Amino acid sequence: MRVPGVLFASPELLTTAGNAIDQVANVAELPGVVDASYAMPDIHWGYGFAIGGVAATDPEQGGVVSPGGVGFDISCGVRLMAADIDASDLEPVLEKLMDGLDPVIPRGMGKGAVWRLPGRDELTGILTGGSRYAVEQGHGEERDLLRCEDAGAVADADPDQVGQRAIERGAQQVGSLGSGNHFLEVQRVGEIYDPEVAEAFGLRTGQVCVMIHCGSRGLGHQICTDHVRAMERQMARYGIRVPDRQLACAPVDSAEGRAYLGAMAAAANYGRANRQLLAQAARQVFRRVAGARLDLVYDVSHNLAKLEEHQVDGERRRLCVHRKGATRALPPGHPDLPPDLRDAGQPVLIPGTMGTSSYVLAGVPGGPAFASTCHGAGRVQSRHQAARGVDGKQLRATMERQGIAVRPSSWRGLAEEAPDAYKDVSAVIEASEGAGLCRKVARLLPIGVVKG
Ligand code: 5GP
Ligand code: MN
Ligand code: MN
Repeated sequence: MRVPGVLFASPELLTTAGNAIDQVANVAELPGVVDASYAMPDIHWGYGFAIGGVAATDPEQGGVVSPGGVGFDISCGVRLMAADIDASDLEPVLEKLMDGLDPVIPRGMGKGAVWRLPGRDELTGILTGGSRYAVEQGHGEERDLLRCEDAGAVADADPDQVGQRAIERGAQQVGSLGSGNHFLEVQRVGEIYDPEVAEAFGLRTGQVCVMIHCGSRGLGHQICTDHVRAMERQMARYGIRVPDRQLACAPVDSAEGRAYLGAMAAAANYGRANRQLLAQAARQVFRRVAGARLDLVYDVSHNLAKLEEHQVDGERRRLCVHRKGATRALPPGHPDLPPDLRDAGQPVLIPGTMGTSSYVLAGVPGGPAFASTCHGAGRVQSRHQAARGVDGKQLRATMERQGIAVRPSSWRGLAEEAPDAYKDVSAVIEASEGAGLCRKVARLLPIGVVKG
């Protein structure tokens, strides 16, 4: 190991990390890695890197970029919108609202999209312009972009590095959730921990919110596959040896490294446009059924590599920060925050499960791990294990009895996402806050879930 491995967790959460801990150690061997190979309390096993892993490399010291450090669902992330109504106002029309959302939120494996088969120019617009392009085409409001990471679009996207197969898969899925772990959820603010920051985020107790979790669909997946293969072939040429083939990588400043980062940025923009289109579809239903408006609180990725400046060993350095199942959490005062959030810090959006809670956090000053924190509850059971122990129809009935309206895409998919398949999200949040990675702002409770 070139650097230590650092895992943030309570003793109890540590027992759920399993062999993902070995993956934290493996990442500490990557060329050019600096400071430490970090893992968040929601850590679990992933391709190459653990999900919940954060690692930064220094391009000036041979630092590499590894597609496995981003994951297959490039720029998968979360968007939260706050409504101008309370849950009590929504109650009489909740079923109607859910029935309105059901047909306009495409989901499941390859079953339609908001923006079906966009032409070549439109797809290029999406890959370079992200949410900004979607808003320009009428899918949203200018203000939305102020509340998106990178103002809605990652710079340096290079559509020429996106292969033909990835384009074909992507063209059919712009504006779709994808499978099981992805969702659109209607929530209510159950508890506020920090009233001042909550107010800056536009959140108050009892208010209705909408959380969307999705990514870059088949396009991102294909890009990851293609570039892992390309890097595997070239690693020996750069004299790179890694302890696990899934850690295929290339120097950030090599042809392969730049090609991946250009394609990854294109996929990130696709993921952001995806969330923008689904948000706009939800807004129309909310307006029609409940006469309500939805304002964007924030949109942030939890699977991405970014070139960022950080202080390491007393020196300011430009690093390639991989976050894979980890959320960027900028501290108050950071120049990349929009002016109205500068004193509060970055909103950090943490889905829990469809049956328990989700959280809104904020970035804190001096957070370790390159201003990052957890991204969810984190799985404890594989999809297969979860589906074996639960019947989807029964799970829905139980949730409906608890007052949560469920619109599944498949019974099997629903069973795979049973709340018991995940760690205790509140324990993950306590551990994250306790480690000084973030602080709690609000807890959100599910009212209705449109499940991928
Ligand atoms: P991932 O990006 O790793 O697939 O998922 C992120 C997190 O989303 C999971 O760790 C889990 O805590 C959370 N999650 C998965 N499904 C749901 C859901 O239906 N509702 C909510 N609120 N959270 C979910
Ligand atoms: Mn995803
Ligand atoms: Mn995700």
